[in-house]
Amino acid sequence: MTTIPVLNYAVTHTTLPDLLLTLPTILAEPKFHTLITLNPQIIMAAEKDPSISNLLHASILIPDSVGILWAAKKKLTQIPGVELTDAILKSSLTCYLIGSQPTVLKKLLSQIQAPIFGSHHGYFNDEELTKIIQDIQTKKPDIILVALGVPKQEHVLIQLTKTLTYGIGIGVGGSFDVISGTKKRAPTWVISLHLEWLYRGLSEPKRLKTWGYLIQFIFKVLSAA
Ligand code: UDP
Repeated sequence: MTTIPVLNYAVTHTTLPDLLLTLPTILAEPKFHTLITLNPQIIMAAEKDPSISNLLHASILIPDSVGILWAAKKKLTQIPGVELTDAILKSSLTCYLIGSQPTVLKKLLSQIQAPIFGSHHGYFNDEELTKIIQDIQTKKPDIILVALGVPKQEHVLIQLTKTLTYGIGIGVGGSFDVISGTKKRAPTWVISLHLEWLYRGLSEPKRLKTWGYLIQFIFKVLSAA
């Protein structure tokens, strides 16, 4: 897979179907991998936290946001994390799910086709996280979907990296809310105009903080040019 630089990160240039075809090849490598659905908020979190920056440098980075496409001068294809998650949950890859409210996770588990090796809602302490990681280590799922939002999910991925020797850990934000039907995605015409970020900000005012990260990111890219 080819990569395009965004700031000092190598972002993978691929499409969702090609990425899905590549997952078995990645899984055949005898190590644990991480995949980040990259957006400006994660890059700005990495600016403040070197452990997240290291995670990004060690991960497969997929562009999840128009901000990343803009920074790459549109040389990349957007792969929304929610679409990647949905496709994985419709595949035959074995999965372990971490994240979201207990009611959301229960609703999601009742709907999906992929073989599920285990799951835990997203509200746990360090001791419980250790048990979750031990469970994953025993069950060896192909994919670990971590839906905790930024930067919690990145910190859990870092913990997984320290222990696991197989599988792909993917940070998927609020995808479980959308796929379970708890939250609605923007209408298709909004998505096709690349305005989902605007729709989400206006429909969920607590998301306006992500616009702040977007502005910081734009300044960072312009000053690096
Ligand atoms: N969440 C969680 N545990 C926490 C904090 C958040 O499981 O301690 C979940 C929350 O229920 C939601 C997701 O993480 O399902 C965060 O979604 P958000 O839309 O904020 O993430 P984004 O898509 O913007 O990365």
